[in-house]
Amino acid sequence: MIPRRYERLKQVLSKRQPDLTVVTEDVHKPHNLSAIIRTCDAVGVFEVHGINSNIKVPTYSQVAQGSEKWVQLHTHNHIKTAIANLQGSGFKIYAAHLSKEAKDYRDIDYTCPTAILLGAEKHGVSDLAAKLVDGHIIIPMMGMVQSLNVSVAAAVILFEAQRQRLAAKMYDRVNLDSETFNRVIFEWGYPELAAMYRRRGEAYPTLDEQGNIKH
Ligand code: SAM
Repeated sequence: MIPRRYERLKQVLSKRQPDLTVVTEDVHKPHNLSAIIRTCDAVGVFEVHGINSNIKVPTYSQVAQGSEKWVQLHTHNHIKTAIANLQGSGFKIYAAHLSKEAKDYRDIDYTCPTAILLGAEKHGVSDLAAKLVDGHIIIPMMGMVQSLNVSVAAAVILFEAQRQRLAAKMYDRVNLDSETFNRVIFEWGYPELAAMYRRRGEAYPTLDEQGNIKH
């Protein structure tokens, strides 16, 4: 790997925000999921959760636009367990949901561990998810159309989270533990080799200062 490339990978990974995530509930159109993941990459989201309780989450080959290499997508079959796991890890989950109780999305503190739940293209957030989350948020709509495209809603909310986190200097420090950082930098820098080590069940080798594999 050329040193400039290694520096760039380290720089991007250093800004990743493991305590900011997105949960998509039955978002099934590949271009929407792709656009959401692309925005996640731009904002520094480390991983995304896709729930496929009713429909299959598109595979990465269907959403592939490049961003999938940089943001991990975890798929889950049950919204209930996905929400419980995130809440158990200390996340507050806010459903982007056009309900009467929804708060303006700018009134949330996104510097705390936060997951943003987005609903399906046609049916929106399920009743179950709406009940289980910690709150609802809304992007005020002043026009004739009732809702935004799901990927647009994701971008509006995520860039507010980015604004708050920039102000709190949360991009100025490394937020990943060193084990995760070293694992991911190897996967980003050497994807084929990483896949081979995983297939063999072997640990990844360590990298030197320039990002070369230590022998
Ligand atoms: N008919 C659906 C409904 O009533 O929820 C519309 C679904 S909308 C196209 C898809 C998803 O985008 C929603 O579930 C929500 O997560 C998000 N979304 C769209 N517009 C939004 C807005 N103005 N405020 C908050 N979330 C919004």
